[in-house]
Amino acid sequence: MWLIFGVKCMSDKVLKGILEKNAGEPEFHQAVTEVYHSLKPVFEAHPEFVESKMFERIAEPERQIMFRVPWVDDNGVVQVNRGFRFEFNSALGPYKGGLRFHPSVYQGILKFLGFEQIFKNSLTGLMMGGGKGGADFDPKGKSDNEVMRFCQSFMSELYRHVGPDTDVPAGDIGVGGREIGYMFGQYKKLTNSFVRVLTGKGLDWGGSLVRTEATGYGLLYFVEEMLKTKNESMKGKVAVSSGSGNVSIYASQKVEQLGGKVVAVSDSGGYVYDEKGIDVKVVKQIKEVERGRISEYAKRVKGAEYHEKGNIWEVECDVALPNATQNELDEKSALKLVKNGCLAVGEGANMPCTPEAVKVFHKNDVLFGPGKAANAGGVAVSGLEMAQNSQFQSWTFEETDKKLQGIMANIHKASWDASKEYSKEGNLVDGANIAGFLKVARAMQAQGIV
Ligand code: NDP
Repeated sequence: MWLIFGVKCMSDKVLKGILEKNAGEPEFHQAVTEVYHSLKPVFEAHPEFVESKMFERIAEPERQIMFRVPWVDDNGVVQVNRGFRFEFNSALGPYKGGLRFHPSVYQGILKFLGFEQIFKNSLTGLMMGGGKGGADFDPKGKSDNEVMRFCQSFMSELYRHVGPDTDVPAGDIGVGGREIGYMFGQYKKLTNSFVRVLTGKGLDWGGSLVRTEATGYGLLYFVEEMLKTKNESMKGKVAVSSGSGNVSIYASQKVEQLGGKVVAVSDSGGYVYDEKGIDVKVVKQIKEVERGRISEYAKRVKGAEYHEKGNIWEVECDVALPNATQNELDEKSALKLVKNGCLAVGEGANMPCTPEAVKVFHKNDVLFGPGKAANAGGVAVSGLEMAQNSQFQSWTFEETDKKLQGIMANIHKASWDASKEYSKEGNLVDGANIAGFLKVARAMQAQGIV
């Protein structure tokens, strides 16, 4: 901490200290560094946050849980995975955030996701704290029975730490309706209670309409808000959407509903290009029903091409939607998108653009919607699912979708306004970080040093 004109300001030593304390976690470093730099003007305006060590506190999870997940595969062989839950911040409500099952999962990835989740959940305007969890388990290629046994073992430990007023996990990469169902069943058996402990539940047993579509649809509602600032809209636009999972599928569906077309989607093997516009029904059949590879698309749809290991960001588009995973879009790809005339980028995934790529977009006046704002639709509808559960109600699709649209428009406005007040008008990276932070910081300030 140092003094300028009698005002206490934050020194970069604070950031350095946090990075040193969390060594070997590059994704967490990336997320913390970005937020720290966005918040500098806020700390200048609010020395009380510096004094109460707000940033140091917010960057430290309230609790972190790591556990063994043993299970038996279909050949009778014992397997051992590692499970985690990071309960990051409960200033605004119960911890809320997804569970990720992917071989790349380790604490650095979950800490970056949990940290981001604090600000994202705050931006939704709903009363939710931030958390994230998961396991280094790969559901790919596993039978339904193996996935069930894994989920049951995972929940046999996690159930002690979660609950409707404590921590309410949801899905993320590798965790969809099937996995949520198996985990919910095990939670119910262990606690002998049917409570609102997970979101993303089936529609017949407490799920919310629009939850499946929420992240992808919400992303497009946010992108439409960004485009409006340049008197543009999705109508007639060509888009590229990486990944072909939950977020990419429903983003592609909404692009089509808004009068645009998605010409390329991908998975970790490569991308498919379909000049006529990707047929979402075919992608859903391959990915949601058959759990197959996107290369299948080119075998089924005439005129479509499969590019094994190709870079999807080389495909010409007006709107780029990185919807797969962290750091999938680098500086070189960003330069290519700019060269091809890309107008807007909306992050459906969490932190899919590297910091260098974000700089390229800002420098070239490309509209840029950061994940913590643009993909907040998923957690927002999870919050709406909790609200419906606690009232024993189910809202209609239209009602829920309308609320989602309203929330995404508010997030855009809050981020825009904060960027205008503290940073450069229209820099939504700074705007989202600041607007998200301020609400949490005020709540933490009011709740004392706990
Ligand atoms: P899914 O597991 O449903 O799909 C992920 C998709 O991304 C798969 O098609 C996967 O392909 C692909 N993928 C993974 N790694 C790569 C890679 N290196 N290159 C290209 N494609 C890749 O996950 P979601 O759609 O739910 O999540 C996607 C992103 O959105 C994540 O960052 C997640 O955190 C974020 N998000 C998700 C929300 C939700 O509600 N689901 C909410 C907010 C954010 P493959 O099958 O080959 O691995």
